[in-house]
Amino acid sequence: MSDKIVIDLTENFANVGKPIGYTGEFDFDDDLLPYPNACLTCVQVDFDVTFTKPNVQIVGKIVCHIQGFCDRCLDPVTEQIELPFDQIFYKDGSDEVDNYIYCDSRLDATKAVHDEIVLSLPSSLLCNPECKGLCPKCGANLNRQQCDCDLSGDNAFSVLKNLKF
Ligand SMILES: [Zn+2]
Ligand SMILES: [Zn+2]
Repeated sequence: MSDKIVIDLTENFANVGKPIGYTGEFDFDDDLLPYPNACLTCVQVDFDVTFTKPNVQIVGKIVCHIQGFCDRCLDPVTEQIELPFDQIFYKDGSDEVDNYIYCDSRLDATKAVHDEIVLSLPSSLLCNPECKGLCPKCGANLNRQQCDCDLSGDNAFSVLKNLKF
């Protein structure tokens, strides 16, 4: 799998205003994920690429496959996250210095897709949104078992109650 998303625009230049499909699978660096010990196993893109003369618009979706561990209970998690993508690429040499550009008939969308993934991923990885996590006393996985720990003693009020004067 390639780690660069490079789109050849030759066909787009011959078809101004017509969306042309582009799909692919990519293998990105893992270090863009905000989760500890997680890795991105595959990034799929499904784009419609339109030459709007002189710019190029790409609309579609990115699907990220993530392997990692639940933030609350530490169980292994395999997650597929779909992100919408909608971006204009400006012709190289235009004044749009802060935007994404393309050069001649070559459009490298790698950085734009990287940026979209980094900005859009949820801040935590969970095995499911209702995950009950681990018991802070005995470490039991509360999704699978009930433990007998008394957690009511951990709040500030009961600490005050137990003070001896
Ligand atoms: Zn969990
Ligand atoms: Zn417990």
